[in-house]
Amino acid sequence: MSNFMQQALFLAAKGRLKVAPNPMVGCIIERDGEIVGQGWHKGPGQPHAEIEALKEAGIKAQQANVYVNLEPCCHYGRTPPCVDALIKAQVKSVHIPFIDPNPLVNGQGAIKLKEAGIEVYIGEEEKAARQLNEVFLYYITNKRPYVIAKWAMSLDGKMATDNGHAKWISSAESRDQVQQIRREVSAILVGSKTVINDDPELIVRITYRQPLRIILDSSGNIPLEARILNPNLLGKTLIATTEKSPLIWQEKLLERGIEILICPANKEQKVDIVYLVNELGKREISSLLVEGGREVLASFFAEKLINKIYTYIAPKLIGKIANMQNAAQLIYEQHNLGQDMLITAKPVWNE
Ligand SMILES: [Zn+2]
Repeated sequence: MSNFMQQALFLAAKGRLKVAPNPMVGCIIERDGEIVGQGWHKGPGQPHAEIEALKEAGIKAQQANVYVNLEPCCHYGRTPPCVDALIKAQVKSVHIPFIDPNPLVNGQGAIKLKEAGIEVYIGEEEKAARQLNEVFLYYITNKRPYVIAKWAMSLDGKMATDNGHAKWISSAESRDQVQQIRREVSAILVGSKTVINDDPELIVRITYRQPLRIILDSSGNIPLEARILNPNLLGKTLIATTEKSPLIWQEKLLERGIEILICPANKEQKVDIVYLVNELGKREISSLLVEGGREVLASFFAEKLINKIYTYIAPKLIGKIANMQNAAQLIYEQHNLGQDMLITAKPVWNE
């Protein structure tokens, strides 16, 4: 590792699956070229990285240089301000990659440090630091979750067979990667048709916490026997619906501990998803994975709510088959052609 800021970023990344809606923050305290303290933020309510590092450095923090990948806070949040602790410890300098756009900080941390006679350096590893906390920076600036759209499709552009069968278009490797994405987000959203056709549980394997499961069901169509409504599932399920859904259906879901969020309806009498994502922002949902189906994805595109896309293209032809297992396998090659991705393929027809 070539410099102290890179080491702070490395420490910060340890919090990847734990800190949401907080940022990932790491801190290195260096004196005379030697690291005397290090720390990283482990999650909401836990000490900030600077506090952890100062604790380890003890008296050696005096006249030391502090490298932290986010501007130290100057406000009382879930924990007291780090700026005060840095001033009290009499550090010599504080290095940060950029000014935290969080309205509660936004340069005030740096100003307070300078006023106390501490040197402040801004700009080291800015690009990598912004990249690491891309989700947090979007969330704190826009007050709504960073939205990731994900879908898998066949070579003939289908996301399911005509009768809605979609297990499995993509490979086991792709599905493992989707598990990894699910582990990193605060919430996962699917439409009612996906629940009706695929009956998913949307459970994340091997994780610290289950993301909130959200079902878009404007009219109350999902059957009560759907697996995702099982009250014994780990984590929480929320159904975003409108006043159109039957009250008796709502009551049955509430009895199972499932939350019902009545949202305003848009022109098409569907859940107003702009309202929904803003509501999720208020609940400190900093990232959302939208898994489909097609109509749900289209509505998120239409409202320009998508920040990132993962598309898995499987070398399969669905055509008019009823079951994914009958999809013809293809021998294929990939090429880049201008801006296009060209795939040439030869079907291997089953007998
Ligand atoms: Zn802090």
